[in-house]
Amino acid sequence: METKTTHQKITCPSCGKGSLRQGGIGYVCDYFVTTEDLCKFVIYANMFGHTVTEDEAVALSQGEAIGPYELTRKDGSHFTASLQYDAATHAIAPVFDEFADYVLESVSCPCCGGEIRAGSKYYACKNSSKESPGHVFFGRIIAGVEIADSTAVALVQGTPTGYFNFTKKSGEPFTARLQLVNGEVKFDSIVCKCPACEGNVMVGVKSYYCSEFKRKPCDFHIFKEMGGREITPEIVEVLCCKRETELMEFATKNGKSVQRKIVLNDLHKAMLI
Ligand SMILES: [Zn+2]
Ligand SMILES: [Zn+2]
Ligand SMILES: [Zn+2]
Repeated sequence: METKTTHQKITCPSCGKGSLRQGGIGYVCDYFVTTEDLCKFVIYANMFGHTVTEDEAVALSQGEAIGPYELTRKDGSHFTASLQYDAATHAIAPVFDEFADYVLESVSCPCCGGEIRAGSKYYACKNSSKESPGHVFFGRIIAGVEIADSTAVALVQGTPTGYFNFTKKSGEPFTARLQLVNGEVKFDSIVCKCPACEGNVMVGVKSYYCSEFKRKPCDFHIFKEMGGREITPEIVEVLCCKRETELMEFATKNGKSVQRKIVLNDLHKAMLI
């Protein structure tokens, strides 16, 4: 590699008065009049593990984005982002692509087989667009819940996700699994078949209830909290299928831990025994 002896004059993007001079820590603004009248702007030579070249420093000083690069945080975790001057903070900061920071490995779009790209705001098939719906396209944050890569992979593969506690725009909480239908994410609140009728057991805000509660009516329900513990959809599934659960830890009123199980009686009422 040839060593440059002449350095380009790089005007400081922060103060506009000084020049950036290459030193030990990187490209430092040389504007200094007094200890009150100075500029502290610097483009570090090492940004999240990426070594900034002089040409990149020039591009950054002109407000251009460089990258994207595979970057490393102090805690050792990796992320992909470009780097750009942020006028609000007067510093070089990572910028994330809303649509395509990296590719989700081991899955492809069920519609076209295209790669699934993960961005800071969306998961999307590379061929998705407004004109061609049906390809994978969904947000990274769904009803207040951040969708991790592992959940996105499960969704694309068509495997059921776990249950999440979402929040409606109105602020009302709800619990559901996610399902991918024609590339779009749908909420699924069905836990299992109702043990009392032909309906389905649904996750409600405070209890699990039968989808036929109005029509039949079927009053089957299980509270989401019993004996001081959370009753998860997985527990309800077992209870409805086997009509009893395994022994589990519950709390008595004075805080002691006790082993109990939930059973359904002939009237399909849940009892703690
Ligand atoms: Zn400056
Ligand atoms: Zn596609
Ligand atoms: Zn029912």
